[in-house]
Amino acid sequence: MISVEQALQLILQQVGPVTGESILLAESCGRVLAEEIFSDLDSPPHDKSMVDGYAVLRSDLETLPVKLRVQEEVTAGEVPQAPLQPGVATRIMTGAPVPATADAVVMVEQTQTTSDPDGVEWVEIAEVRLPKSGNIMLQGTSLRAGEAILSPGRIIRPLEIGLLAEVGRNQVQVSQVPSVAILSTGNELVNVDQSPQAGQIRNSNGPLLTALVQRAGASPVPLGIARDDIDDLRKLVARGLEEDVLVLSGGVSAGVLDLVPQVLQELGVEQVFHKVELKPGKPLWFGATANRETLVFGLPGNPVSSLVCCELFVRPALMALAGAPAEGLERGIATLADSFQQRAARPTFFPARTYLENGQTWVQPLAWKGSADQRTLTDANCLAYFPADKNQYEAGDSISIYRL
Ligand code: AMP
Ligand code: MG
Repeated sequence: MISVEQALQLILQQVGPVTGESILLAESCGRVLAEEIFSDLDSPPHDKSMVDGYAVLRSDLETLPVKLRVQEEVTAGEVPQAPLQPGVATRIMTGAPVPATADAVVMVEQTQTTSDPDGVEWVEIAEVRLPKSGNIMLQGTSLRAGEAILSPGRIIRPLEIGLLAEVGRNQVQVSQVPSVAILSTGNELVNVDQSPQAGQIRNSNGPLLTALVQRAGASPVPLGIARDDIDDLRKLVARGLEEDVLVLSGGVSAGVLDLVPQVLQELGVEQVFHKVELKPGKPLWFGATANRETLVFGLPGNPVSSLVCCELFVRPALMALAGAPAEGLERGIATLADSFQQRAARPTFFPARTYLENGQTWVQPLAWKGSADQRTLTDANCLAYFPADKNQYEAGDSISIYRL
C-alpha cells in the first residue's frame, strides 16, 4: 500500500496545465492570480506628509523656540505652489505633497499659531520630536513604477485587492476555477429533504463534500445519489466525467455492492492507485481519464473518512488545478491534552480540538462514538496526526495537527 505522501505525489502528477481568464478586480476575491503584476506608478507618487502639521527646513529648528511665517496651506489633493525658504513654513495635511526643499513636517500638536493684525500667519515651535523620516514618506518608498509586485499562483485576498487597485488593475488575469462533480453512491441513501425509511440514511456526504470543495476555492456540481447499480452508476459517472474533477463517495471498499472502481474503469478512467496507508480513508481510489481531462477520486463512504480524504487529497489537487501552490491544510504543533492509544498500524488522522491555555496550544482527540458520529465531529477544528511507528502517546507529547 502506498503512503499518504506517495499518494499526494501521484495525484499532483496528473494535474495538467492551468488555463486563465480575465475578470473584474471586484470579482476576484478568492481567485488565483495567473499573471505577473507590475506597478504602473511610484507609491507614494510624491514625497508626502505623514502627519497634519507644518513643513519646515530642519536647519530652522536648530535653536528653539523659533517662529516661522506660514506661506501657504496644502491639503491632500493639492500641490504646493512655492518651495520653502529659511524662516518660512507651509501648513500641510496628511497625504499632501511636501513643498520642494522641505525636509521635515512638525506635527500640528507640537506647534502654536498666531496671526498679525495684517493677516500674516506665524507658527511657533518650542519643542519638537521628529522621527528619522521627518514625517515624510519619500516618493516610491512602497512601489516603484515598473516593479514586479505579485506573481502568478498568489491567492487574491482583500489585501491583494487593495494593492491591485492601487496599481490600476481593474481587470486581472486569474486561473479558471476547477469544476467538481460530486456524486454520492449507496442504495441506503435518501436526499436531505426526505425521511429515511427502514435501513436508510440521509446523504450527508453530498452536502459535506460540496461545502469542502467550495471552501477549497473550486466550483461544486452536485449530482445527487447514484444507486449501487451498474447502469445508474454508469449514467451518473459519465455525467461527472464532463467536469474537471469527479468526487465520488462510497462504493470503493470490499463490499459486494462496491462497484465504483469497476464502473470507472469501464468508462475509461485509469486507476492510479487504490488504497492508501492511512486511517481513516484507506479504501481511497484515484484515477484519471486518459487525456487527464478529469481527475477522479473515490472516497470511502463513512462521513469522517470522506472528510479526511477530501481535505488531505482532493483539496491539494483542487489548489494545483487552480494554479495555486498545492498546500494542504495548515499545519501546526500542539501539546496532547490526554494520552492516546494508536490502535492502527497505519498513520492516523484523528478528529480533535485545539485550544489555548496558559499560552500553549493543546489538542484533545475527540471521544467519538463510531465512524458515523457526525455530532462529535462538529467539535473538531483539526486532525491530530499520529504516525504508525508509535502506539502509546502521553499527555504532554508534542504532535502535529492539521487545521480544518
Ligand atoms: P461504503 O464506503 O459505501 O461502504 O459506505 C461506508 C459507510 O458510510 C456506510 O455505513 C454508509 O452507509 C455510509 N455512507 C455512505 N455514503 C454516505 C453518504 N453519502 N452520507 C452518509 N453516509 C454515507
Ligand atoms: Mg456503499
